[in-house]
Amino acid sequence: MKVLVTGGAGYVGSHAVLALVEAGHEVVVLDDLSTGHQEAVHGARLVVGDIADGEAISALMGAWGPFEAAMHFAARTQVGESMADPGGYFSVNVAGTLSLLRALVAGGVRWFVFSSSAAVYGEPQRTPIPEDHPLAPTNPYGESKRMVESMLRWFEKAHGLRWVSLRYFNAAGADPGGRTGERHAPETHLIPSVLLAAAGRREAVEIFGTDWPTADGTCIRDFIHVSDLAEAHRLALGYLASGGESDVFNLGSGHGWSVREVVETCRRITGRDFAVRLAPRRPGDPAVLVASADKARARLGWRPRLSSLDEMVATAWAWHQKGY
Ligand code: UDP
Repeated sequence: MKVLVTGGAGYVGSHAVLALVEAGHEVVVLDDLSTGHQEAVHGARLVVGDIADGEAISALMGAWGPFEAAMHFAARTQVGESMADPGGYFSVNVAGTLSLLRALVAGGVRWFVFSSSAAVYGEPQRTPIPEDHPLAPTNPYGESKRMVESMLRWFEKAHGLRWVSLRYFNAAGADPGGRTGERHAPETHLIPSVLLAAAGRREAVEIFGTDWPTADGTCIRDFIHVSDLAEAHRLALGYLASGGESDVFNLGSGHGWSVREVVETCRRITGRDFAVRLAPRRPGDPAVLVASADKARARLGWRPRLSSLDEMVATAWAWHQKGY
């Protein structure tokens, strides 16, 4: 199948490109390289451009299409930044996606796989979180993902576009083959931040809050290996192509690890010591976020294979040591 992948030079997108190419799909990546990296794209053509530029997307589809499917990863992704700059998030994640969707349906794309987020749920009312949990995002990032999910329902009614929205929990780790990995500047995510400290490139690890209502007082998150996420995208495409109905699926391991457990696992796997500072809570953090991913297992046949915490930290550390 010929697939257009936006944001295919980014963290999750570049792993999805690998999964698609390895399954024999022909992939064209559209990425503006604002946060992505050219070297992260393997086995696919890279077109540098903006999802908001409908004319450029139509030209791309004329030159390299027709595409049966698109996967949409290109987005701004930092919760804290979205609180300070909601306009920037709605502009790229909502208006940009709208331009993209209009160009895609005009170009005859039939299937659309969307990168959504657990941030659509907000503060959970129960855990593990199922897909029918109420949506109450507590930040513009999560709101932008919810708005796109709403748009997709109307695009399906009007244009027959069938879609799957994948709500990720905490993506972690790197390609076990070492071809791509996580590379943000500045780095704010937990595991790569701890690895920076382990490598001596950050003075200390900060733990944001030790007074949460959890067993060890730190937040609990559901980490999922990025290559398992990538595999879920490949399966979602197969699901749509074989007649599956448009739907939303959580992607998580269903297991919660505390921030302290993550820090200690990084210490053990790296064999490095580093300073840990106990810091105040970070605004907007829910105490516990754990997915129910039973639906993706049942309907997509998805089986996470690399999502033990040891494997996630080990592959992230191997990538880190390549000195990206
Ligand atoms: N966290 C932390 N120190 C850091 C980075 C993150 O204690 O340097 C905590 C953060 O407060 C949250 C968890 O680690 O409870 C995961 O944060 P991350 O930013 O990786 O992902 P999020 O859950 O916000 O998507």
